[in-house]
Amino acid sequence: MIQDIFPSRLINSWQPASPAPESICMCFQDGRLLAAVKDGELHFPRYQSSSGKAVYLFSVDDEAFFLTEPEHVPDGFQYYSMRELRDQCAGKYLYAAFTAYHLHLWYDDNRYCGICRGEMQHDAGERALVCTGCGHKIYPRINPAVIVGVINRGRLLITRYRRGYAHNALVAGFTEIGETLEETVAREVMEETGVRVRNIRYYKSQPWGMAQDILMGFFCEADGGDTIRMDDNELKSACWCKPDEIELQPQQHSLTNEMMKLFRDTNGHLPAAVFRMQNSAQPQKTRIYFTRHGETTMNVADHISGVTDCALTENGIRQAEALAAVCAGHPEISLIVCSPLMRARRTAEIVAAQIHVPVVTDERLREWDYGSYEDQPRDATPDFQAAKREFGVRMKDGGESLLQLAHRVYSCIDDIRQQYAGMTVLCVCHGGVCRIAETYFKDMSTEAFSNFFMGNCELRQYEL
Ligand SMILES: [Zn+2]
Repeated sequence: MIQDIFPSRLINSWQPASPAPESICMCFQDGRLLAAVKDGELHFPRYQSSSGKAVYLFSVDDEAFFLTEPEHVPDGFQYYSMRELRDQCAGKYLYAAFTAYHLHLWYDDNRYCGICRGEMQHDAGERALVCTGCGHKIYPRINPAVIVGVINRGRLLITRYRRGYAHNALVAGFTEIGETLEETVAREVMEETGVRVRNIRYYKSQPWGMAQDILMGFFCEADGGDTIRMDDNELKSACWCKPDEIELQPQQHSLTNEMMKLFRDTNGHLPAAVFRMQNSAQPQKTRIYFTRHGETTMNVADHISGVTDCALTENGIRQAEALAAVCAGHPEISLIVCSPLMRARRTAEIVAAQIHVPVVTDERLREWDYGSYEDQPRDATPDFQAAKREFGVRMKDGGESLLQLAHRVYSCIDDIRQQYAGMTVLCVCHGGVCRIAETYFKDMSTEAFSNFFMGNCELRQYEL
């Protein structure tokens, strides 16, 4: 999400700071921000003595941001709308741009006092504007709004707005005077879609400066009928979608998209742990366990089993059951991410049946594709060990190189860290994948890497 800039941090406390030559200038004109976009990276002008009046906004890590008056446009810079930036950029500077925009609108809307029409000026001690005439003081306005994931029999209520954002969304709306957030959820779903809801559970929140909002995400269930009576004024479409029918937004910025993705990736079985998590400012520890599938017929025959499917032996099933018993002693495991290969899926199913958590399949956890070594007896392929050590060379006849394997396994772990931050996840996969995972978390010499061995259903734990 846009605010997930960890390990960077937006420090929002106000201070009576003056700009230094390297300070970042946030300069708006007609709601557009002066910036340069190069390869998706955002750049802002730096403060110069000619930049004029500057109001301190916030810092991102040790970089201070100031609101400045429109000035001449430096080479390579132009004014962008917030929507253009949203579509083209990501990262900490986009979050800074959204937050700066929120504050810019507030300062701009409040030049004069609403009581006596006197001129407003910045308070000396806090982020507030004070009237020079009557002393009336105001603070930044933040609009509370809800995002609602309505679930009915394994399907999610997906909408599209009639105006504005063109991609899939969830029911959303502002909290009105005199209502609780839960009442906002129930009212908005009823108004937009005619569906009654129950079991409303808070998920996460998101500051959304582009609309001066704080968004609060909730999941709930349809209560009674699932007939949709859509508000044509607000929405263009509203329908119940199965997990695999959900088309995500093109960017990962929004809470809405994260909620749709979570529902899709957990196949509609939201882990209970997601509702106990705090927001991302102070991320809780993410823990990942890795295990290798139980013994297979090909393990016993000592055949090379990369992406070739094979079944667990009876011994392999017993190993999986023993693993399940060990996992039952770790109630913090709230999700299994599993290789699509049969031996891993079967192992994961046995564990999941015991500890009652959802299983998500991730293609990137399948075993190394060994090309024409697949299903060969290990003792008949003396060059196989040497081929495994050539990390940049693809296994012959359409196989993968070790670097290709590492690339997909690393990217899978990156995604787990981000999507399931604060949770404990069990990855059920393969010996070759476990070995790559080990290098994600620890330094390994070439020798240690070559000698690494993961027994069937052995469990290794990593903290993030
Ligand atoms: Zn006043």
